[in-house]
Amino acid sequence: MNHIADCLYKITADIQLSAQNSGRAPPRLIAVSKGHPIAAAEQALRAGQYLFGENRVQEASQKFPPLRYSFPSLELHLIGALQTNKIKQALSVFDVIHTLDRESLALELVKHRDLLAQKKLLIQVNTGSEPQKSGVLPNEADIFIEQCLNRHRLPVVGLMTIPPADQDPAPHFSLLARLAEKHGLRELSMGMSADFETAIAHGATYVRIGTAIFGKRD
Ligand SMILES: *Cc1c(COP(=O)(O)O)cnc(C)c1O
Repeated sequence: MNHIADCLYKITADIQLSAQNSGRAPPRLIAVSKGHPIAAAEQALRAGQYLFGENRVQEASQKFPPLRYSFPSLELHLIGALQTNKIKQALSVFDVIHTLDRESLALELVKHRDLLAQKKLLIQVNTGSEPQKSGVLPNEADIFIEQCLNRHRLPVVGLMTIPPADQDPAPHFSLLARLAEKHGLRELSMGMSADFETAIAHGATYVRIGTAIFGKRD
């Protein structure tokens, strides 16, 4: 067994255990391969990992399309900011977008409705209201979610957050879970290498884990 396969095995066991301990269903694991070469993603695929996360459209476009031939069940998630001029390219490479975060992006997505048929979207919420971070602000989230679902009829299935690095993540995960429940959204994308156990205890359905699988990025 190679190192990536070992790490995947361990993290999967840790996820199962956290879910068991908190009486939750285990979330799906998104292996975040950003900053790592195509060979790393391929090793994970050979170990049976099919969900991947990338934060840049360009990087993902170079790495993943060739892998889809050998691994047709591969599912690719965009977890980084999406510029409106990259929407077409993003929709040709990604299956799920976790970072719908503003009205201008929603309006641009509506224009590409034909490309959205098999796609899923999550709305990113800036639960810590951090100025440098993307995501809709908590006090604007209700209206934005409402508009995406009912006015724009976008295929929004859940919410995503990245809590502030220097705070207890629990209140942020709990806020995201309450928002999702209020709007009848089933997916909660929350939890990374350092805080996935807390996220699972709060009902995460997707955890996004990079470092604990692939090691440190440059
Ligand atoms: C990089 C990244 C991750 C993975 O973080 P790790 O700490 O390496 O597990 C998760 N979510 C987002 C949005 C990221 O950009």
